[in-house]
Amino acid sequence: KKITIAIDGYSSTGKSTLAKQLAKHLGYVYVDTGAMYRAVTLFAMQNGYIGAEFFDKESLINSLSFINLQFKFNADLGFAEMFLNSKNVETEIRTLEVSNFVSKVAEVSQVRSKLVEQQKEMGKEKGIVMDGRDIGTVVFPDAEVKIFMTASPQTRAQRRFKEMLRNGSNVTFEEVLKNVVERDYIDSHREDSPLVKAEDALEFDNSNVSKQEQFVAVLDLVLD
Ligand code: C5P
Repeated sequence: KKITIAIDGYSSTGKSTLAKQLAKHLGYVYVDTGAMYRAVTLFAMQNGYIGAEFFDKESLINSLSFINLQFKFNADLGFAEMFLNSKNVETEIRTLEVSNFVSKVAEVSQVRSKLVEQQKEMGKEKGIVMDGRDIGTVVFPDAEVKIFMTASPQTRAQRRFKEMLRNGSNVTFEEVLKNVVERDYIDSHREDSPLVKAEDALEFDNSNVSKQEQFVAVLDLVLD
């Protein structure tokens, strides 16, 4: 029987790595909801609605109906890439600039309800692994398996930093650490659907666990 797997947690805890491993192994669909918030943020940046010292929420809210988000599976990569109004933005949404604004955009209730609605729609098809911040609490409160991932901020920033260097980004460790800490703070303190562990979620601290060990542990849970 195919089920729904919800993976939530702080930034850069390896949610997407685990979700991809599970989806591949089980033949499930993987949905990265962070990519959706990032794409809306990119749209806001491109239209001049958000910048270093301003955020015109009204204009963003008024143009939400012009934002079309799509995931398209790329067989070479083994996962779906994000398309914003028919354009592949998979690389652009991963920059530090987008990371620095995304949590502010994700605080806006109208943004959340638009994306949550789309996510619930995708979940109608069983056999899905979705990762984010509110999947076990808001999007799929009835998910059969819920995981909540944590790790120390240092560990997480280190991982994200290495990943960004690999992708050719010109960032410093301090910038990445600051971003991780700030995002977690905003995500945990917003009014609408703050980042919290669902009561029935299993908590995994993976500071000292290898990717493989973690995968095996979660797979055991899923197959149970
Ligand atoms: O998962 P990722 O780090 O790419 O998410 C980027 C940001 O999008 C998070 O820091 C959070 O502000 C927002 N987000 C959210 N709810 C989700 C997924 C992401 O608020 N379900």
